[in-house]
Amino acid sequence: MTLKLYNTLGRKKQVFKPIIKGYVGIYTCGPTVYWYQHIGNLRSYIFSDILKRILLYQGYKVKQVINVTDVGHLTSDADEGEDKIEKAARNEGKKAIDIADFYLKIFKEDLDNLNIIEPDKWCKATEHIKEQIELIKILEKKGFTYKTSDGIYFNTSKFKDYGKLALLKIKGLEAGKRISVGEKRNKTDFALWKFSEKPEERQQEWDSPWGVGFPGWHIECSAMSSKYLGEQFDIHTGGEDHIPVHHTNEIAQSECAFGKKPWVKYWLHGAFLLFKGEKVSKSKGGLYTISELVEKGFSPLDYRYFCLTAHYRSQLEFSLENLNSAKNSLIRLKNIASDIKDDDNINKKYLKEFESSINDDLNMPKALSILWNLVRDEKAKGKYKTIEKMDCVLGLKLLEKKSIEMPQEIQTLVNEREQARKNKDFKKSDDLREKIKELGYKIDDTKDGMKIGKI
Ligand code: AMP
Ligand code: ZN
Repeated sequence: MTLKLYNTLGRKKQVFKPIIKGYVGIYTCGPTVYWYQHIGNLRSYIFSDILKRILLYQGYKVKQVINVTDVGHLTSDADEGEDKIEKAARNEGKKAIDIADFYLKIFKEDLDNLNIIEPDKWCKATEHIKEQIELIKILEKKGFTYKTSDGIYFNTSKFKDYGKLALLKIKGLEAGKRISVGEKRNKTDFALWKFSEKPEERQQEWDSPWGVGFPGWHIECSAMSSKYLGEQFDIHTGGEDHIPVHHTNEIAQSECAFGKKPWVKYWLHGAFLLFKGEKVSKSKGGLYTISELVEKGFSPLDYRYFCLTAHYRSQLEFSLENLNSAKNSLIRLKNIASDIKDDDNINKKYLKEFESSINDDLNMPKALSILWNLVRDEKAKGKYKTIEKMDCVLGLKLLEKKSIEMPQEIQTLVNEREQARKNKDFKKSDDLREKIKELGYKIDDTKDGMKIGKI
């Protein structure tokens, strides 16, 4: 069945054709690890996970790379302000590397809890300084760079396709007139390498042909994606905020350095999670982390289900009430699914409808409604195997037999106990088991996972 994807480059749905038959390379812009990833950030990784699962479902061999930005991302995307990691390290009185490792570890746990498949390759910006310098050298040799007092910049006026991804109107963005651009020649020019400025002490800085400093944010993605996926690859994903600056700049660097057009064939962007109509963002406190939702009695998969109720290209309004409805739907779904007997058949009719929804640019709300139609259809055969197949894409662990309808209070304690076990705090985990028992529920830890039942 053909898979159609909406390509931001060109703004239309296209039939997906990989560069190499049977194989797909995906680069997903990863986190800047100076703080916890909030549920808005995580929505964008649930989207890339669904994309990956659909490609796997289609039988492709997939290689997904996620980068970790542990240097160079300034507080403003336009090369101004402080390096986010350096700032956090100073505020928390810690080493930059410890800050990055700490938040990366939590991010990985969040992904695991959300049943997001790990990427095939993680890559950190600080571990690829050499590759970034080499790439800047290529751009320099080809005449795309210039030097200012604070760094080496990419001259965007030399790349005529500069605005193609974001449909930017370049006229009027040039330097001069009423726009102040400092020493930059064009407003859209961006830093490839920034010099360390004295007297400010940086923890993370490196020698380079241009002087001691650190790489700009965008160059890491061009350098690492080409290292692990080649100079041209299939799919690049990220949040919609990346379209006008970060991804536009990645394209400029890569197409100018490697000479391949298009550098990436399909650009997919996830829309924002909103709260009261506004983008959830770290600068505004980030709303909630996954652990905070768990403390409120939700499971990470409730949040995953919630995200699947909207198309990835539609903004999604978050509220605890909406999340609660998602939670109740998931509980109902799992309770029904757990009563279904295993059999060897597939329900071809429902599976076909499901497949045409997921292949239509990841229409997950439609796919979920087909799953509901299947479980509600009393005459439908082959339910178990069909749900099992659908769940390869949904990733909701629908057939895991641990979910029973239980009060919020118990769910909160069960989640806390799971967290305690993950942290190897067995004393706390045992105490919580006792408490749960007093409230009339028993927990068994079996080799197939945790089982909960009424006493
Ligand atoms: P950051 O750690 O800030 O670099 O962001 C990590 C990812 O989260 C990027 O792909 C962003 O585009 C994405 N992102 C940031 N805020 C939101 C939001 N409110 N909703 C969805 N995705 C977001
Ligand atoms: Zn990136």
